[in-house]
Amino acid sequence: MTGIRPTGKLHLGHYFGAVCNWVKLQEDYQSFFEIADVQALTDNFNDPEKVRTNVREVTIDLLSLGIDPKKSTIFVQSTIPEIAELTVYYSNLVTMARLYRNPTVKTEIKQKKALFGNTGESVTYGFVGYPVSQAADITAFEGACVPVGEDQLPLIEQTREIVHKFNSIYGETLTTPEPLLSSNPRIKGLDGNEKMGKSLGNAIYLSDSKEEIERKIMGAVTDTSKIRKDDPANPEVCMVYYYHKLLDNPNLETVCSECKNGARGCVACKKELIKVMTNFLDPIKEKRHYYELHPDEVDQILIKGSKYARTIAKNTMRKVRENMQIDYFKEEI
Ligand code: SF4
Repeated sequence: MTGIRPTGKLHLGHYFGAVCNWVKLQEDYQSFFEIADVQALTDNFNDPEKVRTNVREVTIDLLSLGIDPKKSTIFVQSTIPEIAELTVYYSNLVTMARLYRNPTVKTEIKQKKALFGNTGESVTYGFVGYPVSQAADITAFEGACVPVGEDQLPLIEQTREIVHKFNSIYGETLTTPEPLLSSNPRIKGLDGNEKMGKSLGNAIYLSDSKEEIERKIMGAVTDTSKIRKDDPANPEVCMVYYYHKLLDNPNLETVCSECKNGARGCVACKKELIKVMTNFLDPIKEKRHYYELHPDEVDQILIKGSKYARTIAKNTMRKVRENMQIDYFKEEI
């Protein structure tokens, strides 16, 4: 069980940092991929159009990258009201102090305080509580394994705490999730920044045109000590080499040795990377194009996935209500 916030189209950082791992995991696990629109609204509540548009865009990206709806369930968070209901019940089991200790919440609050002053008044109730809704996301679908990077471990810990508390008060009801730790590498930007990101303006999107890719690669940061074409350089400090490596260029050894002994110029090296990048992205873009032309097919995948996900969430909710003794009537209201 994992999720992605629909706040923008996906880029290579998303793919190499998470989605390529999900594509592999779907072969061995019954997988649920949540398009977390409710969560996206916690800090985009004043821009619903952005979230709405990106629900489809992100779904198209996932499908193009290899998430297979025949093997996995892709669903929209807001179509499952049971998640919201669980969030309410779980919110009684978490103290405010504990939520404020969550590293992600802590960092975000710090940033907001720096922007808006030291009062913390700009931090919404929904934002502070989002780890609780994440616990609901995971447990609603009996999520046993959650693929995470090291930095997301506190999120799983928070969910496990909620599950233990719930089960100890109301009896064994919820599945305790285990983190499925992966290296989740953080992908650097072409500008040498440690992270590729939309706000940093250094991302290569799966939907970028050939011209955009060329422009971005030609502007990539290389070894700044290399002035002339035949100067020897250090590929390990060059972002062009970093991407040759990331994209598994079969010619990698030659790129490395020619760079080191001054036998290759940066322009030629960038042109080679453009070819490697194009070869990598073309089949993804082809699939993307197909889904862009077939929006009804994308909608049907989401409808089918959401309906199936809801049957699981309803079953969890039935057990929760029973054990919390709020199952007053046999008849469905
Ligand atoms: Fe980077 Fe290639 Fe230039 Fe070496 S030759 S510095 S690897 S772009």
